[in-house]
Amino acid sequence: MKKLNVPSPVASVFTRAIASAGLILGLLTLTVADASDRAVVPGGIYQWKPPEGATQIRFNNRPLMRLEERVLVGVPLRQALGQAELEYQLNGEPRTHTFSVVDKAYTEQHITLQNREMVNPNPEQLARIRGESSRQRQLYLQFSDTQLPNQGFIQPLQGRISSLFGHRRFFNGQARNPHSGLDIAAPTGTPIKAPAAAKVTLVDDLYYNGKTVFLDHGQGLVTMYCHLSDQLVTEGDAVEQGQIIGLVGATGRVTGPHLHWSVSLNGYRVDPQSMMTLLTPTSVEPQ
Ligand SMILES: [Zn+2]
Repeated sequence: MKKLNVPSPVASVFTRAIASAGLILGLLTLTVADASDRAVVPGGIYQWKPPEGATQIRFNNRPLMRLEERVLVGVPLRQALGQAELEYQLNGEPRTHTFSVVDKAYTEQHITLQNREMVNPNPEQLARIRGESSRQRQLYLQFSDTQLPNQGFIQPLQGRISSLFGHRRFFNGQARNPHSGLDIAAPTGTPIKAPAAAKVTLVDDLYYNGKTVFLDHGQGLVTMYCHLSDQLVTEGDAVEQGQIIGLVGATGRVTGPHLHWSVSLNGYRVDPQSMMTLLTPTSVEPQ
């Protein structure tokens, strides 16, 4: 420690104060580090290394993605804060693993739409929206054992991030669901690339989402691309990482051309930026 140029009694009190502050800080750091290993925010991805031999690891009774020795758990934006649990089997015995969900102050976004039917749809439009939602929910809940090749998860296009995941949204002053994807603004016609190898599970024109493509990457990782001007794949296609799946547009509920990109893990929409960080090839240790 640097020598303090102050009279000695003061210096000793001062040093003691610094020493105890250091000790407290040390303890705090330890606590925070320990907590962060077992903590996640709503809409985040919780990572856990299960004990050897653990099987049937579930969150809310949903199977989870395994990546090397970890499981990746998608936590919904509406997850209650506090304790959450994973269930699993070890040597034929049911076990649980507890982790904490801590608050994240997602910012607010106020949007004005001229088309009132995009804010308050009529009964016929509502029926269509409900049908589309349930079809999308089924796609999000699909789980196949396909392993992702270790090529990372690339951003589908470069552009200005015009709305972050998790924003609490208000349309014409009315509260709506939080923003469940990442918006990347780009001119109409900009190519959109598959972030990783996948199977195309939906190509359709939806009420809010406009022209949409769904990609299923396996193990409960599903991505959605909305508001396209054109879709360049068909349902059932297998696509490679980097393959162009569609073009940016302004179809559906939009204020301008952009890609709305959703990333879903075990059926819950999670932050696409966290997923890109998690799945960079360098973050995966070699066997
Ligand atoms: Zn969006």
